Amino acid sequence: MSAEAESYAFSADINQLLSLIINTFYSNKEIFLRELISNASDALDKIRYQSLTDSSVLDAEPEMEIRLIADKANNTLTIEDTGIGMAKSDLVNNLGTIAKSGTKAFMEALTAGADISMIGQFGVGFYSAYLVADKVEVLSKNNSDPDIHLWSSEAGGSFTINKAPDAGIKRGTRIVLSMKEDMSEYLEERRLKDLVKKHSEFIGFPIKLYTEKTTEKEVTDDDDDEEEEGDDDKPKVEEVDDEEEAKKEKKTKKIKEVSHEWEHLNNMKPIWMRKPDEVTHDEYVAFYKSISNDWEEHAAVKHFSVEGQLEFKAILFCPKRAPFDMFEGGNKKKHNHIKLYVRRVFIMDNCEDIMPEWLQFVKGVVDSEDLPLNISRETLQQNKILKVIKKNLVKKCIEMFTGLQENEDTYKKFYEAFCKNLKLGIHEDSTNRAKLAKLLRYHSTTSGDEMTSLDDYVSRMDDKQPGIYYVTGESKKAVESSPFLEKLRKKGYEVLFMVDPIDEYAVQQLKEFEGKKLLSATKEGLELAEDEEEKAAFEEAKGKAEGLCKLMKEVLDDKVEKVVVSNRLADSPCVLVTGEFGWSANMERIMKAQALRDSSQSAYMSAKKTMEINPQNPIIVALREKADADQSDKTVKDLIWLLYDTSLLTSGFSLDEPSTFASRIHRLVKLGLSIDDDDDGDDDADIDDLPPLDGDDDNEESAMEQVD
Ligand code: ADP
Repeated sequence: MSAEAESYAFSADINQLLSLIINTFYSNKEIFLRELISNASDALDKIRYQSLTDSSVLDAEPEMEIRLIADKANNTLTIEDTGIGMAKSDLVNNLGTIAKSGTKAFMEALTAGADISMIGQFGVGFYSAYLVADKVEVLSKNNSDPDIHLWSSEAGGSFTINKAPDAGIKRGTRIVLSMKEDMSEYLEERRLKDLVKKHSEFIGFPIKLYTEKTTEKEVTDDDDDEEEEGDDDKPKVEEVDDEEEAKKEKKTKKIKEVSHEWEHLNNMKPIWMRKPDEVTHDEYVAFYKSISNDWEEHAAVKHFSVEGQLEFKAILFCPKRAPFDMFEGGNKKKHNHIKLYVRRVFIMDNCEDIMPEWLQFVKGVVDSEDLPLNISRETLQQNKILKVIKKNLVKKCIEMFTGLQENEDTYKKFYEAFCKNLKLGIHEDSTNRAKLAKLLRYHSTTSGDEMTSLDDYVSRMDDKQPGIYYVTGESKKAVESSPFLEKLRKKGYEVLFMVDPIDEYAVQQLKEFEGKKLLSATKEGLELAEDEEEKAAFEEAKGKAEGLCKLMKEVLDDKVEKVVVSNRLADSPCVLVTGEFGWSANMERIMKAQALRDSSQSAYMSAKKTMEINPQNPIIVALREKADADQSDKTVKDLIWLLYDTSLLTSGFSLDEPSTFASRIHRLVKLGLSIDDDDDGDDDADIDDLPPLDGDDDNEESAMEQVD
């Protein structure tokens, strides 16, 4: 056999993972069994799925089960399944040479304090065998490969593959663990039974443990064979009763008899077929852990059945935390975590059309009475039944999340973990948009450290408030001091802070809540009612500023769509707003970042900006006076540019030409320090190289001083 042995090196990542598993002090080693049983169950699911369209795949081995054999004499534990098995190439690829993304991710998670028991979530559960074994042998037979192959490794950088002699495997995989010295507890029947009960109770295939029974038997001295006709399968455990013995006429003797039997360990009735009120919390937890690989219990569960034109049962779980790869991987197809069954037969666990993308974090099972058993992935997509199932699942998920709101703390944690998903839902799901909006939470100008729901916001609105105000931006800090909030604050209107990039998308679709319009504080058309006196003063100032608006537009040219007078501002001289239906400054920032990240995306389009000036602001008033005196005053032009640049910044845009802006500011600094431009040799030369600045002449100094 050794002549045929082929040696392979583990991929670097896997090798590193193995050393971590072997060398990390970690006491919860028992999880290896759950991982290996789960792999066995997956392999059985695969062959059963194949058999739905081609029953001959089961010919070689009709049984579908998982067997556990503890052999104390040889210090081995065997986990065997009659699943799909692995051909030679599968053994090479799946167990050691092709590292999955989860390998690295798992190690990173470990360094960040994650627990080894989370291994299954990262898709590298097999290697947990090395928690308890110093040598692992995998014998496997797949229908496509005429031979059984033996994969064997004591870690240490490499594994070998041999063609194995017929080991009685017709199809499936036998994993033989040579246990580490102090791991004999896992060869105890009691321990194995408890472990299966604890971690693998809901596996949908029989898990059988090879057990040994010693029975004391009473046999008559002269006829030892008398009782042999009894039931072979069930060795009788007889109570040795003194009285009874006395009655017996023949002389008897007691002998010990050792018999073996396969003990069926798991409850086979699927939990979703039971009535919800008969399932305990602990059973849900155990079931959730078994399907999710999560080490923590779920945050919420929804167990329901739908009857009528279409029938199905389902259990949905909301996890406490987001999976490590939720929003990862660009265009990669993300599959969800709903296991689809048809009349108790597992069909698939990555059916793309059963849950929308935004709900991909929800885990659970769906068992349909109506779908055909031999449905293929392709036909599923068109399937009307599946569409109805999906609609129902989404509805139930929203009910589940809504229920979470009853406990503030729980909801807070849920929201932190999954608010992006809810917002994506708002963006994509027009049917459920209104219900999802009730789940949103935002910080606001009045909410302090807590977040507010839209319902609570509305309850605080007075009759005159035209709608729900919000501002989008990069961070809470950035928007809190935004000039756009000045007037709204003064009027006592609460403004929601939307500082998650996805808010920008969600709010575009949301548009209104409970009949109240959502109004962006940074967009055009923000009309703020004023009292008569305010109005009159404003109108007067407005009339005077018309000329300045015209001049500003001429100077700024195509940088702005238009320059208008507005009553939006209380203190600042001006801001840049964007069109009601166009991109906001924040959206421009997001799109810029995306265009940089993904070069395939066409260059971003910039937001259309309107400059709104505050006619009562002293800077604007002074500027107007100066402009009225001399339309061609270059200082005025320079100041207009400065106001434009500072507005870019305070309105959430980035500067187009930071160095031009800087040189304008430098000149102001020089004025402040009374440095004469002519004295300033080199620096000045630099500035002169920059694009021409209006107002770069002798008038400048005095002009600047006036404004100050
Ligand atoms: P995961 O099961 O999460 O994909 P593992 O590291 O546990 O990750 O297993 C790697 C791969 O090896 C599996 O995806 C599967 O293809 C194969 N495999 C593991 N155990 C078995 C088994 N008992 N029968 C068939 N294939 C198996």
